[in-house]
This record gives sequence, structure tokens and C-alpha cells, in this order.
Amino acid sequence: MSRLVVVSNRVTVPDKTGAAPAGGLAVALQAALEERGGIWMGWSGNSSGNEEPGPLEMQEHGAITYALTDLTDTDVEEYYHGFANRVLWPICHYRMDLAEYGRKEMAGYFRVNRFFAQKLAPLLKEDDIIWVHDYHLIPLAAELRQMGFKNKIGFFLHIPWPPADVLFTMPVHEQIMRGLSQYDLVGFQTDFDLDNFGGGLVREGIGERIDGGKKFSTFGRTFKGGAYSISIETEIFSKFAIKAEKNAMVRKARQSVEGKDLIIGVDRLDYSKGITQRIDAFEQFVATNPDHHNKVTYLQITPKSRSEVPEYEQMQRMVAEQAGRVNGAIGTVDWVPIRYINRSVPRPVLAGLYRLAKIGLVTPLRDGMNLVAKEYVAAQDPEDPGVLVLSRFAGAARELRGALLVNPYDIEGTAHAIARGLSMPLDERKQRWQMMMDHLLTYDINRWCDDFLKDLIED
Ligand code: UDP
Repeated sequence: MSRLVVVSNRVTVPDKTGAAPAGGLAVALQAALEERGGIWMGWSGNSSGNEEPGPLEMQEHGAITYALTDLTDTDVEEYYHGFANRVLWPICHYRMDLAEYGRKEMAGYFRVNRFFAQKLAPLLKEDDIIWVHDYHLIPLAAELRQMGFKNKIGFFLHIPWPPADVLFTMPVHEQIMRGLSQYDLVGFQTDFDLDNFGGGLVREGIGERIDGGKKFSTFGRTFKGGAYSISIETEIFSKFAIKAEKNAMVRKARQSVEGKDLIIGVDRLDYSKGITQRIDAFEQFVATNPDHHNKVTYLQITPKSRSEVPEYEQMQRMVAEQAGRVNGAIGTVDWVPIRYINRSVPRPVLAGLYRLAKIGLVTPLRDGMNLVAKEYVAAQDPEDPGVLVLSRFAGAARELRGALLVNPYDIEGTAHAIARGLSMPLDERKQRWQMMMDHLLTYDINRWCDDFLKDLIED
């Protein structure tokens, strides 16, 4: 069996006790690496200042070698904050209005990808299978090919891929598409993203889909494309949720919402998550449903993210102000309608909070998949499950058919879905939940990992 080499911007290294990390993705990748033996390479998250980064820091854990590199301050600024987070992230989330394209940042992005390839090259064996993750590293295969590597190289994009007219607003879109063409398999979250990629090639007149849509032909290469919806460790997460009922924080939360319906939202602070529209929808729901006054609590958990990017800093203020304004306007001496937590909550605790909530409110304006939606479903009590209110613009909406699908731009529509969810009869809740849970038990994170690797390895 060939070795597996995973490359991603950040690497999840197990802690000293060897305990499994919190996220499902890291667990699944580690399981795949453990089975085949292999390397996981990426950025350490540290800067080497102005100095060239030293040799890779190698850490062995069982059959896996973690290979970490530092980056210079300039690299971090140009490659990571500059091009990845200020150009590719907004463009891929259909926010061309927020993209700040600069040549220096673009050059830094390609330079750091070459640097990653140079660091990785001495570690590679001829028959290694290489799996590159996410938008930070699109040009990596092209760099390795230029160095003569003929290995099987796969790429998975964790975020959406936009339609042609959005993508083409990015001046280097052709170089980015050319970068993807150097892989043997390019995986997207959904068939919509896959279609957008194919559509872009056709619109630009530089390629086509062949083999019944399973392959692309462009830039002189033929390579496979597919949709692989990322998922969670469904069974484990569901057990977390049962265990979490005993957790002190969850118990306190339960006591504090006694006699009230809990609605939960959990999102990194990001403009793609639709948090402000969601608060508007909650306010609208309260305004139009006086019978729910004093009987509902909306808990929004929103850890800070990317505070170096100005839009995120601005959002930080906006959401805090908005939650305060709504509480001021509709709260009473004994009722705080919105509880806003601007910190990260550990996943096992989140599992318990999801289980307490009658409604999981997941309304991104655009999301590659959205794992919170899947976690909310997995955490429910089968005898009394809550209702998932889900944006049609989350990748997860393609799978979770038992959810109440909403258009997050339609504030009244979302408010209506909240009301409908809170009054949904138990039978209907059970039926909807079962459909989603059955799907997630089959299509869990291990299935995602196996499906991708099988397609990458197979000729
Ligand atoms: N999460 C967490 N603590 C928090 C908020 C989120 O552990 O306070 C986790 C959450 O359980 C989920 C992930 O972060 O596993 C978010 O993944 P998702 O796909 O929903 O969004 P992303 O942040 O990747 O855009």
C-alpha cells in the first residue's frame, strides 16, 4: 500500500498525551495516515520574523510524521492574510465586493506555494499518494510537477467554488484554474461547486467536461473531478452529546433556560455566516409572535476569527451592537432574548448545548458545507429531536432534506421558519430528524475520506 502524504495550511498535531484532537477532519485524516503510514505537512502557525525559516520540524507519532515549517512575516502577510483570506476567501464565497486584489499578495501566494513544494520534495517517495487541502495551496501540484514529480496528487476544496462571472473578477483566475488542472483529482463539496468549475472552463473557452462529466480536459491535461461532501464523526458526536448532559456548563445552561425554548446559532465570526441577517430574523420572529415573548432564548456562540482583516474587526463591533440593540428594544426586566457569546466553546460542550436547543439556526449566506448543521442533527435526542433551520446556500442543504430550508436574505421567511420549527408536532420532528440522521450515519467523515482516496488511487 502506498504511503499517504497530506498537505494543508495548518496541521493538527496530537498533544503530548496522544489524545485525539477535537475536530472530525483531523481524526479522519489521522486514521487514513495511520493506516497507510505517512506524512502530514504544513505551516506551524509561527513566524520566523525576517529570517528565512529553518529546517522542517519533524514530529513522529506512531506511523505518522508531522512536518512543520515556519513562515516569514512577509509570507504570512502576503500568502495567508493577503491572498488567501482577502482574495480567495471572499471570491469563493461570492463576495467579489470584499476582495482586495494586490499583485504583491498574489506573488507571495505563489512564492509560498513554491516554498512548500521545495520543503516537501526531499520527503517524497515515488509512489506516495499526495492529498492537498484547501484554497491556500491550489498551486502546489503545479510546483511539484515542475520539479518532475509524477505522483498521484489530489486536491480537496473545503469552501465553495463560485460561478464564472464571480470568479472572473479575480485577475489571476486563469492561473488558479491552471493550478487545479495539475492535480489527478479535484474534489469539491457539492455538485454545484463542481458545475461552477466546469462552467468556468467552458465560458473561458479553455476546457470541457468529458467522460459523462467525471473528468475535465483543459490546459493540456485530463483529470478527474468529483463532489465529496465533508461530514462529521456522526456516531462519536452523538455520544458526546449524551455525555455532555452531565457537563457543568451544559447543566447551568439547562437550568437557565428552564421553561423556555432554546434556539442556538454557532458560527465563527465571518461575513459568510449571515449572523446579522439571522439576528434581524429573530427580532422579526419576536415582533410577530407575541405569544413567544419571555418563552424563547436565542443563544449565539461566535468565536472571533481573522481579526487582522478589517472586515472581520468591523463585523465584531456590528454583531455585538446589534445583539445589544435588539435586547434593549425587546427584552424585559426578566427576559434577555439574545445571549451572545463572543468566545470559542469546546466541541464536546457544544454537543450538549445543541441537544438542549429546540432549533438549530444555521443560516449562512454562503458556506462550503457547514458542519454545525450536521453536528446539530447528530446531537439530538431521538425521542424529542429539535428542528434544523438551514440556509439553502450551505452545502449541507444538498443533503439534509429534513431541515426547514430558508433563504437567509429573506428575513421574514426565516422568521416564519423559526415559528414553524417551534410549533412543529413531535411526529414530524422525529420523521425529519430520522431522515437526516440516517443519512449522516452512512455519510460520515470516514466515508468522505475513503471515497476521495478511492477515486484518487483508482485509474
Ligand atoms: N466550533 C467549536 N467551538 C466554537 C464554535 C465552533 O468547536 O465555539 C466548531 C464546530 O463544532 C464545527 C467547526 O467549529 O466543528 C465549524 O465548522 P463549520 O463547517 O460549521 O464552519 P467553518 O468555521 O469551518 O467555516
